[in-house]
Amino acid sequence: MVAIYPGSFDPITFGHLDIIERGVKLFDHVIVAVLCNPSKNALFSQEKRIEQIKKCTMHLSSVEIDSFTGLTVEYAKQKGARVLLRGLRVLSDFEKELQMAHTNQTLWSGVETVFLATSKEYSFLSSSIVKEIAQFGGSISHLVPENVAKDILMHYS
Ligand code: ADP
Repeated sequence: MVAIYPGSFDPITFGHLDIIERGVKLFDHVIVAVLCNPSKNALFSQEKRIEQIKKCTMHLSSVEIDSFTGLTVEYAKQKGARVLLRGLRVLSDFEKELQMAHTNQTLWSGVETVFLATSKEYSFLSSSIVKEIAQFGGSISHLVPENVAKDILMHYS
């Protein structure tokens, strides 16, 4: 069974990586799909984010990294995937994610969204938090893979 893990990943954090590592234990193939959303002001280009994810998922043979634009369900159909993998941290995630899952169901009844609860050590972790800390010179080495930390430090230095 193929699962798509869609997201902005701007940048990928240990929270995302944890979902990917747990996802590969549940599904035969996991496609991490970087959403290209021109209305979101991203820190890293789509190409850079793909490169960052590739580097830190090299140890996972059943993971593919890709990007897409437009509707997630259309992309999923194209890839032959019936599962969308998403992570849940706090109550506000649940509201947003449930709305999205229901919307996707109205667009394609063949799709299922599977939610994985965050591991408790990453429940506070988001890409935005990482950028905020880095911007003010705080340490982020415990929050993102080494290659990503280097890119962020370079950006803000
Ligand atoms: P989006 O812009 O689509 O929310 P993100 O890159 O922020 O993209 O997140 C992609 C998915 O990963 C979302 O389902 C989000 O809830 C989940 N996620 C992000 N951070 C964590 C974390 N620390 N633990 C578990 N899931 C997470």
